[in-house]
Amino acid sequence: MFNMYSSFKNSENLSWEKILACSLTKPEQLLQHLAEQRSGHLAGQQFEPLAEHLAEHLAVQAGDLELVAKTYPMQINPYIFSLIKTPNDPVWRQVVPDVAELDDSKNILDPLNEENQSPVSNLIHRYPDRVVFLISVRCGAYCRFCMRKRVVGHEDQITRATISEGLKYIRLNPAVQEVILSGGDPFLLKDKQLGNILQSLRNISHVKIIRIHTRVLCTLPQRITPKLVQILKAFQPLYINTHFNHPVEITSQAVKACNLLADAGIPLGCQTVLLKGVNDDSRIMVKLMRKLVQIRVKPYYLHHPDQIKGTGHFQTSPESGLKIMATLRGFLSGLCVPQYMLDLPGGGGKIPLTPEYIIEKKQDSWIVQNYKGKKFVYPLI
Ligand code: SF4
Repeated sequence: MFNMYSSFKNSENLSWEKILACSLTKPEQLLQHLAEQRSGHLAGQQFEPLAEHLAEHLAVQAGDLELVAKTYPMQINPYIFSLIKTPNDPVWRQVVPDVAELDDSKNILDPLNEENQSPVSNLIHRYPDRVVFLISVRCGAYCRFCMRKRVVGHEDQITRATISEGLKYIRLNPAVQEVILSGGDPFLLKDKQLGNILQSLRNISHVKIIRIHTRVLCTLPQRITPKLVQILKAFQPLYINTHFNHPVEITSQAVKACNLLADAGIPLGCQTVLLKGVNDDSRIMVKLMRKLVQIRVKPYYLHHPDQIKGTGHFQTSPESGLKIMATLRGFLSGLCVPQYMLDLPGGGGKIPLTPEYIIEKKQDSWIVQNYKGKKFVYPLI
């Protein structure tokens, strides 16, 4: 494990299974691993000031963090670890447990009411023509802000039986035209398992569109292998929505994975989540959106963070999101501008939020302002 962590950047050809198998799953392991790097330095090996810095920071809270990881599983693989540069930087905040996760009495685990909108386990039927089908509890890394903290990492939640129940429900409901595979991360299934599920869906004539929601492009891009891409290609029309939250996640390996998918004709979108202390800054968001378009990933949604228990420290006001949106629209190409979405509590569904461009609606005209705040009269003919 030590070698893979200390020299990850030189390990381009490692398989995703090997990388994943070396994940750190306990804060104590993370601390121990950092300590090993330090002792490596003392033994005359490569100097690792970063390890020293991270270990000192983590040691302050080590005991408390064990409690957090017992409640909400931790998983940090060597790839995502290699992106951490300092304590509390944007990648650290997304994957290292934080004591604030246990200090959240305002929020509940399922504010979007997914459980009550599930006619069978792990299948959410909220909108008339589409369902979200949860097929995996595993992920490349466990994100601390996850909206499904109640599901991820809990191996007993999704089984062969729940997957077959879900397929049966879809088969019996001709209104379902689109199936969104999610979890957890569907790409954590083995190729064969995923291929079988995709084939079962394609055998249902009323299912026209398959969409896969995945974060492996950011957390474990090595998972996008030529063999996986070949499997996916056989089930078009198939869309992939991924989830980059910060420009530092767009590494050469992430770009390689996106290229493999885009070159196979699979459209890629991105659902970024607005996260306090990670990306609630318009300069970061501008950079992220521009970079996404350059790697052929269309910014699709900017999600306002859901009020999920254990994620209160990431939450910010819709006003701050609207301010960021006002710095994107007009200043960047429309290709770079996602829709800013608020998912309503209780399962009411998503609504778009936009900065105010209509100032007044008169009988014969509207008074509007453009992206620079300049006012115009738009006549109603
Ligand atoms: S990869 Fe997605 S499902 Fe998994 S922990 Fe992260 S946000 Fe949650």
